[in-house]
Amino acid sequence: MKWLGRRQSDNVEDRRGMSGGKVAVGGGVIGIIILLLNVFGGETGQVVGSALENMQGGQTQTEAAAPLSKEDEEMGNFVRVILADNEDIWSKIFQENGMTYKNPKLVLFRGSVNTACGGASSASGPFYCPGDQKVYMDLGFFEELKSKFGAKGGDFAIAYVISHEIGHHVQTLLGTSEKMREQQEGKSEAEANKLSVALELQADFYAGVWAHFNEKNLDTGDIEEALSAANAVGDDAIQGKMSGQVVPDSFTHGTSEQRMYWFKKGFKSGDIKQGTTFEEIQ
Ligand SMILES: [Zn+2]
Repeated sequence: MKWLGRRQSDNVEDRRGMSGGKVAVGGGVIGIIILLLNVFGGETGQVVGSALENMQGGQTQTEAAAPLSKEDEEMGNFVRVILADNEDIWSKIFQENGMTYKNPKLVLFRGSVNTACGGASSASGPFYCPGDQKVYMDLGFFEELKSKFGAKGGDFAIAYVISHEIGHHVQTLLGTSEKMREQQEGKSEAEANKLSVALELQADFYAGVWAHFNEKNLDTGDIEEALSAANAVGDDAIQGKMSGQVVPDSFTHGTSEQRMYWFKKGFKSGDIKQGTTFEEIQ
């Protein structure tokens, strides 16, 4: 994907240089101190850090921030471009439909993270939390996607996953997510899972819509990378790898085939009205 030199979003919170769970200890003040640590680094950071520990009565912030490698920095910039793309495309689509798009934040982390939806670790995979309207991702997930789930990998696989999560943000803004949760109430687990599949496939569709409006920046093979990622994260593929058996009633994201189908439909049409997964996947 062509991304160098393009606009980068300011809405990325890069927490990769921080130690996981400890970030939670002190909210705002500690957040600012961590920022200072990152800006000034090394010695100065230590002094600020320990002064704070005294002030806060021994709450620790002992683990030093791990510096980001050149590749980490580059990945961060790539993520910023993909997020900026999503901002531009969704702002325009919302505007055309008489609505206002509100940019979500994207948090890059390593290990574990605290969110309005509770604590999470890298093992949860990338996710969107409606409570704070933030996308959370540990980029280590994409190594796993390749090594454990046999995806091709590549930058466009990451772009697809980011855009899928932004798709959940779009659903939150449109009220689709809330409506789905209301519909799930009192339903059997199998019925509730079907609704969840429809929501997930619609997010894949929205990722496809994003790709549609980004066609000029695509390289040969990009769509295959996205489809390979979509294929690898299908419930049947994941369940098959994990337990050797596939139980359709417990699907919450859809099969590999469904995920590829809806991504492609979004990519071809670029028309949000065609993301009719709730009507079709019942
Ligand atoms: Zn999802």
